[in-house]
Amino acid sequence: MLFREFAEFCEKLEKISSTLELTARIAAYLQEINDDKDLYDTVLFITGKIYPPWDERELGVGVGLIYEALENVSSVKKSQIEAMIRELGDLGLAAEELIKRKKMATLAFEELTIRKVRDTFDQISSLTGEGSRKRKIMLLTGLYGLTTPLEARYLTRLILNEMRLGVGEGIMRDAIARAFGVNPETVERAYMITNDLGKVAVVARTEGEKGLKNLNVELHVPVRMMLAQVAENFEQAIGEMGSAAVEWKFDGSRVQVHWDGKKVTIYSRRLENVTRALPEIVEEVKKSIRPNVILDGEVIAVKDGRPMPFQHVLRRFRRKHDVSKMVEKIPLEVHFFDILYHNGEKIDLPLSERRKILESVISETGRIKIAVQTVTKSVEKVKEIYRRAIEAGHEGVMIKNPSSPYIPGKRGKNWLKLKALMETLDLVVVGGEWGEGKRSHWLSSFELACFDTTTGELLKVGKVATGFTEEDLEELTELFKPLIVSQEGKKVEFIPKYVFEVAYQEIQKSPKYESGYALRFPRFIRLRDDKDVDEADTIERVENLYKMQFEQREQ
Ligand code: AMP
Repeated sequence: MLFREFAEFCEKLEKISSTLELTARIAAYLQEINDDKDLYDTVLFITGKIYPPWDERELGVGVGLIYEALENVSSVKKSQIEAMIRELGDLGLAAEELIKRKKMATLAFEELTIRKVRDTFDQISSLTGEGSRKRKIMLLTGLYGLTTPLEARYLTRLILNEMRLGVGEGIMRDAIARAFGVNPETVERAYMITNDLGKVAVVARTEGEKGLKNLNVELHVPVRMMLAQVAENFEQAIGEMGSAAVEWKFDGSRVQVHWDGKKVTIYSRRLENVTRALPEIVEEVKKSIRPNVILDGEVIAVKDGRPMPFQHVLRRFRRKHDVSKMVEKIPLEVHFFDILYHNGEKIDLPLSERRKILESVISETGRIKIAVQTVTKSVEKVKEIYRRAIEAGHEGVMIKNPSSPYIPGKRGKNWLKLKALMETLDLVVVGGEWGEGKRSHWLSSFELACFDTTTGELLKVGKVATGFTEEDLEELTELFKPLIVSQEGKKVEFIPKYVFEVAYQEIQKSPKYESGYALRFPRFIRLRDDKDVDEADTIERVENLYKMQFEQREQ
């Protein structure tokens, strides 16, 4: 399939804003694709992904490399390219313009195909070490050398994971269902298990509803984790469930542990493979857990019997070198609270039954624990567990429905969380501003956005400039510098990659931001680099929290 056809299709999509029409158009387009590989790539590419979330490969191409490749093909200097971005709005349009100008001089001989783009991406992502930067630029230059102007627009946006088509996972899921005549819920379930919409589309086409239902959880392929909703209060939480399974809410980082008797793989909440950063946990899992399982738990850092702040756990997760030094400095424990897979099968049993299996496969050790669980109908009892959790330095409690199944990726009423602090928001950092005077070499304020799950768009809700220490600013500047796509005066825009947790005094309605809301007195709490951009809080949650403020005032 020609990449040109894909680019032309994307251009059509870009002009459509209705969700229904987008879904219908994509469905019709997917139906026309005959080749499985092309179908796979098209599904991923339209949603701005090169690899599915579980795949560890990364292109490792930032804005800097794209500039260099574009300089090579067009002989236009970086400063001029930056000026074009300011004028045109994004690097994709700038690339299109550059190729348009170049086309006057030469014409490419070979037509670019989806397969060629995919193969080149795979080559680029396999490059590491010395000389890899140069090779990557060469390969990219080769690709740009073959593109038409329109192809350059979408190739660039694809590399930046930002297609700007308004097509999120929700629309793609519905389009797949419609294209191949299967139930959207079956598509959703298959996606949560495989984490791969491309694969889901191929199975839907070749094997239909039955094939999707047969997709099973596999060891060493991460599954989306079940998530929790905020409980309004103890009474409501217990009232709804009748009898509830109550556990401490540990303030650490989520892990999914896959163990087959030979190999242990540990995934973070973002489904990144963090096995290498946690050698002592790997060893202990091997010694104390019966194999052929996938377990769900929370890793916490503990010193002198007390939990250390959550950031320490993330430091451990991020660590790539000298891991052994960190093992002593930041001692970890895992508290397992669920099991998803046991002896070759996904467990479709209620929590109360899963719990029995969990207890039967783990022998607790110093580092490996089973989260203590109390099943009760008494609100007083839950309050007491909550008080003890807070006293012991934890976040609050999780209240779970004992008869509920484990639904991957689902945030629902079967898991409720009650935390001590006022609810914070997890928002995507989309822009920023350089500081003044002494702080001029640091980014000092950050623009935040929430996520629209249907369209995949990010909607701005405000800026945060307080709550940072000087160390935070220094670290964050290093982290965000490579993500800058454009700069105007002191203001910069970033490739959306990181999520901040922020507190605030109030949410207000505001025409100033495209979300229609603004945060009053936002304050930085922490970088949530355990969360992906598409796991940030949604516009619905912002709306709900806004409404809840009134309800609280009226009480
Ligand atoms: P939040 O990150 O605030 O949405 O809260 C949900 C998170 O709490 C989960 O993703 C887990 O990482 C964490 N957590 C801590 N303790 C538990 C527990 N006992 N059961 C489930 N999740 C827990």
